Amino acid sequence: MVYHHTEDIQKALLPYRKKNRSIGLVPTMGALHQGHLELIAQSQVENAITVVTIFVNPTQFDNAGDLKKYPRSLSKDVAMIETVPGNFIVFNPSPEHLYEGNVSSKSYDFGGLETEMEGTHRTGHFDGVGTVLNLFFRALKPTRAYFGEKDFQQLQIVKKLVEIEALPVEIVGCSIVRETSGLAMSSRNKRLNEAQLEKATLLHKTLVGASEQFETHSIEAIKKWAVAQFEKNPDVRLEYFEIAETNTLKTASEKKKNTSYRAFLAAFVGPVRLIDNMALN
Ligand code: AMP
Repeated sequence: MVYHHTEDIQKALLPYRKKNRSIGLVPTMGALHQGHLELIAQSQVENAITVVTIFVNPTQFDNAGDLKKYPRSLSKDVAMIETVPGNFIVFNPSPEHLYEGNVSSKSYDFGGLETEMEGTHRTGHFDGVGTVLNLFFRALKPTRAYFGEKDFQQLQIVKKLVEIEALPVEIVGCSIVRETSGLAMSSRNKRLNEAQLEKATLLHKTLVGASEQFETHSIEAIKKWAVAQFEKNPDVRLEYFEIAETNTLKTASEKKKNTSYRAFLAAFVGPVRLIDNMALN
């Protein structure tokens, strides 16, 4: 069942709330793939009902062309969710309805998580993410909400958001789902042709190489090596490669003891911007 209005989906959830049964939330922008389905499957196992939001959120796009070209396929998406065993409903509001006529972002201070990596390259992106999730959390009051490590910086920011907004929801992080080539699944992959999909595997290959070198090489050396991989492959344009502390996301130039690190990158294949990340230790 697909709901387009907040009042209608709230009515549908009322019986669950009255009986104190758990509600899982999986926020997505649609154009679903196996990565989304894994989040939905985990929510189905852990909750009485799962709400999948399918909403291409205008306020988190810093590029009008990217927003316009973002793939949309609602009925196909619903058919895909139906293949996952369990009880679900879909929320697909219009921007005007969800934002009550004022499609704009609140301004958030996420304690510095928002100024690293994606934050420096996509102005206003995390304000948009925080604003839309705050609206969903308040409208749907889920028990748990599921997010992929594919967007690791987003996952950390969502944990901070629920702290700032004092929202009673448990945030669950889920591992990255990849193609057999290693390429992280993404709705944006649908915009790539066969040859570009092959070229895009450079993102994952570089992360694997970085993790293999992490114990034996300096961060400086690994970063240099990573940049060189992209210089050898001009069809994939690196925007950034960073090694950052897992918890604070502060980008690092030296390794500290007892600290967990991840590598993060963003790169363009043709006009399509892809991101990926991997634990290093
Ligand atoms: P999106 O529709 O791209 O906004 O993604 C919706 C949710 O699915 C986010 O929490 C993403 O992190 C998650 N997600 C997207 N791709 C993957 C993937 N390949 N593996 C795991 N989670 C993913």
